[in-house]
Amino acid sequence: MTKHAARPAIHRRNRPLILAVPLIALALWSWGIATALAAESAGLPRILVLATGGTIAGQADARATGAYKSGQITGEQLMQSVPGLDKLAKLNAEQISSIGSQDMNDKVWFALARRIQEAFDKNEADAIVITHGTDTLEETAFFLDNVVRGDKPVVIVGSMRPATAVSADGPGNLYEAVQVAADPRSRGRGVLAVLNDKIQGARSVTKTNTTSIETFSSANDGPVGYVDTAGGIRFMAQAQGLKRATYQLPAGEQLPRVAIVYSHANMDAVPIEDAISHGAKGIVLAGVGDGNTSKPALDALEAAAKKGIIVVRSTRVRSGFVTRNVEVDDDKNGFVVSEDLNPQKARVLTQLLIAGGVTAPAELQKAFTATW
Ligand code: ASP
Repeated sequence: MTKHAARPAIHRRNRPLILAVPLIALALWSWGIATALAAESAGLPRILVLATGGTIAGQADARATGAYKSGQITGEQLMQSVPGLDKLAKLNAEQISSIGSQDMNDKVWFALARRIQEAFDKNEADAIVITHGTDTLEETAFFLDNVVRGDKPVVIVGSMRPATAVSADGPGNLYEAVQVAADPRSRGRGVLAVLNDKIQGARSVTKTNTTSIETFSSANDGPVGYVDTAGGIRFMAQAQGLKRATYQLPAGEQLPRVAIVYSHANMDAVPIEDAISHGAKGIVLAGVGDGNTSKPALDALEAAAKKGIIVVRSTRVRSGFVTRNVEVDDDKNGFVVSEDLNPQKARVLTQLLIAGGVTAPAELQKAFTATW
């Protein structure tokens, strides 16, 4: 007897059944996996990724000189380059623009604000992640923080190195941004900026270094929290990073003209007169020290305020506050001080207030003073 002869013969009649068993098992197994995946993804938050461009979507120049072009890669491609994102959230990407953020403008801001509001109002998303260049990231964060209603997380992220760099920081930053957006503890904190393991509030965050990946900081109050590969997300206990006020997004797609005038030694009145002659409705002074400037510049600002132009004193100094009536008589001149807001953010708030018809210095000051 050969060893094959020992095998029981399969009767012709039983053959279909024998074939069907593994097929049924396979079907049950894949159904099980599909159900498990559906159940798993059903529990995941829905995150809408709105891509605007920036270095995070940048591609190196073929000459390998360190030169690169912002905004070459789509949000969809960016997401696909980050392994494990689909375990954190159900993601959808939309391209709002493909620009370096030095070209950020009112049109893109309005498109972002309207899309975010629509996604929240129609319950299309539980959170938003915005990919953005780092140059004006803080201004976009602050603008959106002031106009988007609701408490769902909105996280803005960028990178210092282009997507094609050897040690690109974009994928890690995007992963952390999605982690933060997916975390229910991020609700009610307004717009959060996530870069290089830190979570920072829209009001305080600012770019401080032109080259290093350790560039964003919040000088007066520090980060809202940290993202740690080992320990997860840790929010600090302080109040910063909490949403303060929501202003109406103006109709159309343009904010009123507000100029920033930078103060320095030997300052004259020319930049202020220029701003006025170009139709500025407001002037933000990037002053020295406590928002100070020279006598000729101060006289020009006083004349501007008398004509109904809003004058806000901010500072070119990176930290601290601008306080009323220290070396400048704000009460007499009808000026406003920016408190902790740097000139570029003071400009955004001034624009929103003017657009909303707030022009009385006392009312404007209340909006700047926020919750101190
Ligand atoms: N110029 C670039 C931008 O702001 C720089 C960056 O993203 O880091 O789009």
